[in-house]
Amino acid sequence: MAHIIDGKAVAAQVTEKVTEAADALRASTGVQPGLAVVIVGEDPASKVYVANKGRTARACGFLSVEHTLPEDTDQAALLGLIEELNTDPAIHGILVQLPLPAQIDAGAVIQAIAPEKDVDGFHFINVGKLSTGETETAFVPCTPAGSMVLLQTVMERDLSGRNAVVIGRSNIVGKPMFNLLLAANATVTVAHSRTADLPALCRTADIVVAAVGRPQMVKGDWIRPGATVIDVGMNRIPAPERGEGKTRLVGDVDFEAAEKVAAAITPVPGGVGPMTIAMLMANACVAAHRAAGRTPPR
Ligand code: NDP
Repeated sequence: MAHIIDGKAVAAQVTEKVTEAADALRASTGVQPGLAVVIVGEDPASKVYVANKGRTARACGFLSVEHTLPEDTDQAALLGLIEELNTDPAIHGILVQLPLPAQIDAGAVIQAIAPEKDVDGFHFINVGKLSTGETETAFVPCTPAGSMVLLQTVMERDLSGRNAVVIGRSNIVGKPMFNLLLAANATVTVAHSRTADLPALCRTADIVVAAVGRPQMVKGDWIRPGATVIDVGMNRIPAPERGEGKTRLVGDVDFEAAEKVAAAITPVPGGVGPMTIAMLMANACVAAHRAAGRTPPR
């Protein structure tokens, strides 16, 4: 049976380190890391994410600011708020919760965030830095960054000679994951909906990262014995066994089958999910260190 990688425990270690670093920064420079989260509209899932981010930021000792704008907010108003936050010296990290309502061009909003405050790592400057190997000064998107930390709990940092298959090519997960694995010297293949014979490709992989959004798509017999599996997927499926109308969260991997074959695997929930918020805190703490002219903790 595979080793189950405990994302909750690793995330707690990350936020503990961030809390210590934030305390030390405040003690030595008077700078308190400040994180602003902007949400437009009433999407229930987004509201839960934003509340969790605010709670974790406060627990880390940050200044945590939430801006909740009405559903009918226009682009100019949102860009105006971003500009204010860009120039606010108390704010070191800005996150705009996605998705945004249809009247707003999400791409334009993301590119309006000052790159040095772009703790989501979606600005072209940060994307470019990551893809050119400038990982020391880039902000790396939180979910792939957290997936990499989980991977490093069970594998050596240098992945020379390892084959990795990333399933999914989104800008938020798949592509940055490709860059991170490549930077760690893995030989990386990115698969997507047009890939031929995905099961056979997966069987060549020492590392499988599934970021698809299809419940339990990756089967146990796609996994090479001894491989490490990082399941980024978060899918709600009906769970009538829990009562009428109930649902449960599953990943993109058939966990029960895969854990019999893999050497190590992340569960859903309790794997990559908790790491995303922890890495957001880590990025905000790094942003505050850079603003204060201090070397960020590693
Ligand atoms: P996207 O929908 O943006 O991308 C999905 C990718 O999967 C696309 O590249 C798509 O290919 C590919 N794909 C779809 N169907 C298949 C298939 N049958 N075979 C192979 N590839 C396929 O999703 P995200 O990257 O944003 O998210 C992926 C998953 O990760 C989701 O379940 C999401 O909920 C979860 N997630 C979890 C987070 C966390 O905190 N744990 C954070 C972010 C996401 P193509 O490009 O060809 O369409």
